[in-house]
Amino acid sequence: MGLTMEPTPLSSADLAAFRERLDRIDRTILDALAERRALVGEILEVKDREGLLLRDLAREGAMRRALVEEGKARGLDAHFVSRLFGEVIADSVRLQADLLVRRQNASRQGAGPFVVAYAGTAGSYAELAARRHFAGEAERAVLRGYRTFREAATAVERREAAYGVLPIENTTAGSINDTYDVLTETGLSIVGEVVLHVDHCLVGVAEVPLARVARVLSHPHALAQCSGFLEAMPHVTPEPFHNTALAARKVKDDGDPTQAAIASREAAEQYGLHILKEGIADRPFNFTRFVVVAGAPIQLDARIACRTSLVFATKHEEGALARTLAVLAKHHLNLTKLESRPRPNVPWEYNFYADFEGNVADPGVRAALEELTTIVSYLKVFGSYPAATGVGARAPEAPELAGAGVAEPGSAPGNGRSQGLPLPPGEGRGEGGHDRRVTPSLEGPYRLASLAHRPEPTRVRVGDLLVGGGGLVIMAGPCSVESREQIFAAARAVRDAGGHILRGGCFKPRTSPYSFQGLGYEGLELLAEAGRAFGLPIVTEVLAEVDVGRVGREADILQIGARNMQNFALLREVGKVDRPILLKRGMMSSIEELLAAAEYILSQGNQQVILCERGIRTFETATRNTLDISAVPALRERTHLPVIVDPSHGCGRASLVPPLARAAAAVGADGIMIEMHPRPEEALSDADQAITPTVLADVLRSIASIRR
Ligand code: PEP
Ligand code: MN
Repeated sequence: MGLTMEPTPLSSADLAAFRERLDRIDRTILDALAERRALVGEILEVKDREGLLLRDLAREGAMRRALVEEGKARGLDAHFVSRLFGEVIADSVRLQADLLVRRQNASRQGAGPFVVAYAGTAGSYAELAARRHFAGEAERAVLRGYRTFREAATAVERREAAYGVLPIENTTAGSINDTYDVLTETGLSIVGEVVLHVDHCLVGVAEVPLARVARVLSHPHALAQCSGFLEAMPHVTPEPFHNTALAARKVKDDGDPTQAAIASREAAEQYGLHILKEGIADRPFNFTRFVVVAGAPIQLDARIACRTSLVFATKHEEGALARTLAVLAKHHLNLTKLESRPRPNVPWEYNFYADFEGNVADPGVRAALEELTTIVSYLKVFGSYPAATGVGARAPEAPELAGAGVAEPGSAPGNGRSQGLPLPPGEGRGEGGHDRRVTPSLEGPYRLASLAHRPEPTRVRVGDLLVGGGGLVIMAGPCSVESREQIFAAARAVRDAGGHILRGGCFKPRTSPYSFQGLGYEGLELLAEAGRAFGLPIVTEVLAEVDVGRVGREADILQIGARNMQNFALLREVGKVDRPILLKRGMMSSIEELLAAAEYILSQGNQQVILCERGIRTFETATRNTLDISAVPALRERTHLPVIVDPSHGCGRASLVPPLARAAAAVGADGIMIEMHPRPEEALSDADQAITPTVLADVLRSIASIRR
């Protein structure tokens, strides 16, 4: 070595010392972040006590601008500082919202462990999402994998799990229909969301060159999302597998280095595999949004930036979708998603799945939803929940965006109100998702059913038919479905007479438990078969809440019988399904009570209600009931809902049915429901009021000269 002043090269001992210093600095940063978080928690206490907003966007903007300036003075890049503190602020906002939600929902579950259901196995993306969402309660959350989304959802429905985590959309593949179906068909509520960056890696048992890999296992979606990478390796055979984590596990179990899996980094860690290559998806921006579901909605403070998800079906009217969107715009609700899917059982009609920024606890949002019911035939709110993405959920990216008149979502502090449909004021939902009470609003016991709410007649679509708004729909068939032979003969007679809908009781509300109770589901199957055979939609009564879903899948119209007109739990249940409901007037009920009963259904979201006058109890003994024909025009003056008449139960005597059916047509009913039996004398129920097929054909002929 000469005398030149060359810098002494760093020795490995020096490097180790530098690294130690770096590690110390990193620990200091972590300590500072943890201290900052603790402080943020304490600030929430103050904000909550004083009812202050969670976010002060002006302060956030000023803070970031100051930090950028101070960073510059220390030689730090402005963009880097802005992004870094953007993340830090976003974390604080999330933490405060999280703490507030948890505090306001503390009664939901005890202090002990709770189960979180997801579809997949340890190391799957769903498990990652679940772990991320419940990170704040990691010591209590017991994550449990199920084979399918539906099984995970069922576990929550049965209360075997407190929460479920289900994928709902992917930025490459689009919406996940199974999850939407689960939300539509069950009573589960969305209580949260998690957005996961799906970062696919190629993983194997040993560090081998890619050229040695011969088979790649993964879920078909993951294989598709990495198709570019796989096509560039012609020696590789892609093999579909149940899910990404199971593929990783199989690669581990087989121990074959020529076999690899596409899975997450976490799955590789879980199964002790090597990452052969990361970031192999065709599109680097591959995100999956998961929803967290629970048995009941959460209480949300109006200060928390929320997203609300719902499904609706528009009425069969021109421009209905456009008018729906106009209502949302009028109420300043920012739509973040709108997607259509075929409506189950109604070919060529569509359900619309929508997300908007807002909280159903906000009276403005409730007003918008209420206005929507004038246009939609069905509306179901899946839930309002703290938004993980989008405006209001994050700190603004660039300092110059902050503070400049950005409106705070839900800008007034308020009491957390649980979500539901646009219920009348004073009505809330208690624990377990059940409505707590119904306080008649100042406007009267019904509102959505009123003409003031919707002046045009509602038309309820049943297959190709419209009930309401001018036509006369004929529903006919036996009181009870008794046998295949009987219901097929009845269906043929209805069709031949020119009837439109086949009726038949399967679950019978009999006065005595010793009378024929109906054939139940066996009868429903026969009724559905007969309806299909003769091209007639079917209507049948549902007696119990538990049967609503199953009967609703088979029947085109669900009937609520006179004896159940004020079975409020049952009314609420049929208010949640997307099926027309035939609501019969109770034999001891006033017209106002009938409308209030309809309101129970409407207020749950189902706007497809047909009212039925079927006779009331009076002192008169010459007839079984007194058919209140005046109910038809009286209802017309009060409601937009279609009104039909059942002359059979109205008088109880076959000989009086034809003249009363003609009266119903003359008074302007939207439909008539008649009991007809192929052999009335053999009928197992209501034999005295059943007319024969011949009489039915005669009645319908005579009616044709009154209407149409
Ligand atoms: C029926 O229609 O089968 C029936 C039982 O009617 P209601 O509920 O009107 O008595
Ligand atoms: Mn009957």
